[in-house]
Amino acid sequence: MSLQTQIAKTISLEDYGIKNATVHYQLSPEELHYETIEHGLGQETKSGALAINTGEFTGRSPKDRFIVKDEVTREKVWWGPVNIPFEPGKFDKLHKKMLDYLSHKEIYARDAYACAEKDYQLNIRVINEYPWSNMFAYNMFLRPGDEELRNFKEDWLILNAPGFKANAEEDGTRQENFAILNFSKKIALIGGTGYTGEIKKGIFSALNFILPVYKNTLPMHCSANVGEEGDTAIFFGLSGTGKTTLSADPKRKLIGDDEHGWASENTIFNFEGGCYAKVINLTEENEPDIYRAIKPGAILENVILNDEKEVDFSDTSITQNTRVSYPIDHIDNIQEPSVGENPKNIFFLTADAFGVLPPISKLTPGQAAYHFISGYTAKVAGTEAGINEPLPSFSACFGAPFMPLHPTEYAEMLSAKMKEAGVNVWLVNTGWTGGPYGTGSRMKLKYTRAMISAALDGELDDAKFNTHNVFGLQMPVECPNVPSEVLNPRSTWENKEDYDKKAGELADSFKTNFEKFENYANDEIMAGGPTSS
Ligand code: ATP
Ligand code: MN
Repeated sequence: MSLQTQIAKTISLEDYGIKNATVHYQLSPEELHYETIEHGLGQETKSGALAINTGEFTGRSPKDRFIVKDEVTREKVWWGPVNIPFEPGKFDKLHKKMLDYLSHKEIYARDAYACAEKDYQLNIRVINEYPWSNMFAYNMFLRPGDEELRNFKEDWLILNAPGFKANAEEDGTRQENFAILNFSKKIALIGGTGYTGEIKKGIFSALNFILPVYKNTLPMHCSANVGEEGDTAIFFGLSGTGKTTLSADPKRKLIGDDEHGWASENTIFNFEGGCYAKVINLTEENEPDIYRAIKPGAILENVILNDEKEVDFSDTSITQNTRVSYPIDHIDNIQEPSVGENPKNIFFLTADAFGVLPPISKLTPGQAAYHFISGYTAKVAGTEAGINEPLPSFSACFGAPFMPLHPTEYAEMLSAKMKEAGVNVWLVNTGWTGGPYGTGSRMKLKYTRAMISAALDGELDDAKFNTHNVFGLQMPVECPNVPSEVLNPRSTWENKEDYDKKAGELADSFKTNFEKFENYANDEIMAGGPTSS
């Protein structure tokens, strides 16, 4: 009998207040895969992956994310619409209700951890109502070995019950679903939603408080990889800008696709043990690494299968946010453990749907700070007929929904670290070219990849640069394997007046957004913003 099965026989959830549950502890991904199918909760696709539906929620629900306001958090958290306070007493009541709900059920429990750098390891016990949620936890968190399991003591507990619905009036939530972090009790309650991303982003949000407050370490919403010379690159960006896509680069070892820390020991470390990739319009040709990661062990979410159980990646009838999760070793070329040295290059990814920002530009330290605090991307208004006006979207530190502290706390840490490490910072627009959404088209992935390769290989070090007329950004005049005319966005627009008008409008949006940060920004940072409008 293996150690894992011995442990499986001994774990009880009675001490937590979950009574008379049938506990499946530390099941293997194979067992969870079959358990899911046996319960009629999923199907096996032709490639052997598991396909499940997350239910009513196919994305995170930021308005239902709360933090318990008490002596630990009161003075530190930046309270507001992102970090919504929750009363400790209400938390206790809701917690008790969830425990009662989970009692007498079949429960899936697992021990895992976050942070690949040992000094920062956060042990997590995850308790799930559904087997596929537990398999997601296996895929996304780091997996302890037998020895670690034997002595496992959790730092944080996650209770995850998609079928449990809160009563907003009684429980203090906004509606039936919620994700609540309690930093005193070290518990995350996730209920009323089956969206798996809430589990990973719950722990990410917890680390975004714990690491800077207690460990002098900068948490970052970024992907990371490392080249043959040991040179680390990190890619910040909001959802859909290309962190996962661009960090999967066959020439470089993947450190991680979404959440990392920059430690005082000058290392970059992954918080996670897996990837969570968008699969909308996925093709083997464009994204071979991700495509091939979809095999037994992977979990596809909210995709449509045909009669042969093949996935139709173009079908968005459930959601545009179709996803796959898999353990990081489903990617061929990975860094083990998921730790790298100080980065040499930092990329800020943005998907500018106005077609204004250059596809690659080099930032000064002031511009880097300005763009990090701004955290710009654009939201495309879905695919409904007639709606083709994108909206600018600013999310500080390229991840405001997950940042419990004031954005400038992270920005100051990043600026200091960038100066110390002497990194190159690049702004990469993976969004539109030749005009805005509706007129232009998205930058070809192969060009974006070529621009990033050129930056990483030092091929832009001696490049000639033009200065952008509105944003003051340094745009290379030439770049290997990229047609020169796409490098200056203005030259890709048929009507230059239209371009200048749009650029001016976008600059105004930047300025308006930045007003709330002006009190925190010095002259150097302010000079990093748009130079005219
Ligand atoms: P999240 O934080 O939600 O995980 P992400 O930053 O990891 O988001 P990706 O999953 O990499 O974003 O999504 C980028 C999407 O945009 C992919 O579906 C990719 O195929 C598509 N795409 C199209 N053109 C480009 C391009 N030029 N560069 C990067 N991605 C592109
Ligand atoms: Mn991603």
